[in-house]
Amino acid sequence: MAKEKEQENVPYEESQLYRIRHSASHVMAQAVMEMFPGEAKIAIGPPIENGFYYDFDLPRNLTPEDLEAIEKRMRQIIAGKHPFEMKVVNAEEAKTLFADQPYKIELIEGLEQGGVDEYGEPLDEQPEISFYSHADFTDLCRGPHVEHTGQINPSAIKLLNVAGAYWRGDENRPQLQRIYGTAWKNKEELDAYLWKLEEAKKRDHRKLGKELELFSISDEIGAGLILWHPKGGLLRKTAEDFVRAQHEKAGYDFVYTPHIGKANLWETSGHLDWYKDGMYAPIEIEGQEYYLKPMNCPFHIQIFNSKTRSYRELPLRFAEWGTVYRYERSGVLHGLLRVRGFTQDDAHHFCRRDQMPGEIDFVLDFSLSVLRAFGFESFQAYLSTRNPEKFAGSIEDWDAPTEALRQALDRADIPYKIDEGEAVFYGPKIDIKITDALGREWQLSTIQFDFILPERFDISYIGEDGQPHRPYMVHRALMGSMERFLGVLIEHYAGAFPVWLAPVQAVLIPITDNHLDYAFEVAKKLKAAGIRTEVDDSPNRMNAKIRNAQGQKIPYMLVVGDKEVEAGQVAPRLRSGENLGGMTVDDFIDHARKEIEQHQ
Ligand SMILES: [Zn+2]
Ligand SMILES: [Zn+2]
Repeated sequence: MAKEKEQENVPYEESQLYRIRHSASHVMAQAVMEMFPGEAKIAIGPPIENGFYYDFDLPRNLTPEDLEAIEKRMRQIIAGKHPFEMKVVNAEEAKTLFADQPYKIELIEGLEQGGVDEYGEPLDEQPEISFYSHADFTDLCRGPHVEHTGQINPSAIKLLNVAGAYWRGDENRPQLQRIYGTAWKNKEELDAYLWKLEEAKKRDHRKLGKELELFSISDEIGAGLILWHPKGGLLRKTAEDFVRAQHEKAGYDFVYTPHIGKANLWETSGHLDWYKDGMYAPIEIEGQEYYLKPMNCPFHIQIFNSKTRSYRELPLRFAEWGTVYRYERSGVLHGLLRVRGFTQDDAHHFCRRDQMPGEIDFVLDFSLSVLRAFGFESFQAYLSTRNPEKFAGSIEDWDAPTEALRQALDRADIPYKIDEGEAVFYGPKIDIKITDALGREWQLSTIQFDFILPERFDISYIGEDGQPHRPYMVHRALMGSMERFLGVLIEHYAGAFPVWLAPVQAVLIPITDNHLDYAFEVAKKLKAAGIRTEVDDSPNRMNAKIRNAQGQKIPYMLVVGDKEVEAGQVAPRLRSGENLGGMTVDDFIDHARKEIEQHQ
């Protein structure tokens, strides 16, 4: 969506592509109504990012063959070049036309009362009720549409799938069938999008997580709670070790804090006021209520507050891989990306006013350098500024930090957008999104000022003047959550991690059992050199072993047979299929070590 926006220089909602998709959804609805004459009940059908959908209540479940037939009929309708015509009506006329369409009647009543739009979404103003018609299909709709159906390219549309969707997202209302479709300007764009969808399926971290034995989610334990298996554990440990070492070099202090804290603490922090819906029910211990922590901040503040702080000690940078628990509806949980328990690489910076701009520069540079080390190259930052309706402190309180964030972004030389008025009430922030190998954006890092917690916990340091002063406090999560970060990383690399991150870096593949001893001997040397190595001693034939190693995306496959045993060599083969040729074990160790150390 962002890309299209830039190309056309207009918001997506005003673009021609948006009109095309919206019009395609009407054409699809016409085709479906013709397929079930008098029986199809239509609900809503908006354009969405990359396509459109329409929700239907139908007498039977749609099949893939139905989708083909609907698509075929859509092409016929498109060829008719039917003009889209708009008509403003009053509620009575609207209800008469849609007398046998209960979902539309409900929407019309919503429009009539005000407060919701024709998709059932909240709306501020009292909307006009309008119809859009083409051919013999009329929908309750405020547009916009193309001029006539001929402006939809028939070779650039595709119906993708059918999914269940509750009417108005309410589990107690009827379940409808939602047909997802996509539409583009030309066939090349459609093909490129379909390729991306296929590729995304192959890269799905839930699928790869299973195939590569990285992690699982067990019904016995509960939804949204991740089990890291040995290989995933190794991946996570390698990533964490690297990032911890970077933190240590950069002058962070490591702290460890518990998973639960008393209700009092969360009252002082304000979480029980404004974040209670995201927290789990309290645990009672000796008459006191404790809560699982949804955030680490109050704990780090307690450490700051554990003694009198001098201006000389600042800045203080407390870092913790802190596991937090947040309530998410089961319906929105998604692999590693949306979970109920996750570990943040969380840090809190406390600094003086005069240190603040430098501290912001530091934290932004540090975050970007770590993300780059993982192979992310393309960033998009968002600076959220003060919401004039709802903000803590004074306008002056916000000015300097906001300016510091903006200047840091300028200096870091990454593209950024200003989200005017989008900041949470307690301070301005920077969000950093990375673009992955498929061009998808993922939100990872956040650098967030906080004017509230320092007040609520009354934190201070003694300044040069001998007086107490309030420090600035900045929350920073760099990888965000380890679970989500690794989920993104799995998809970015399609499981073929760079050598330094790969859980298994080399596998010895003996051609026959006669070569087993040699394989184990080489493996021992590689392990001693710090290369994570396995021996495939399965009874499989060589080709099956190679296929298996390929499937496991192991960077180096070392096939050993008579030739290698005699020469005391290995013949490394890369995941790409490239052969490095025969070399001594020591030469291979040098080669692999160089590759591993490269990123640091
Ligand atoms: Zn419409
Ligand atoms: Zn925090």
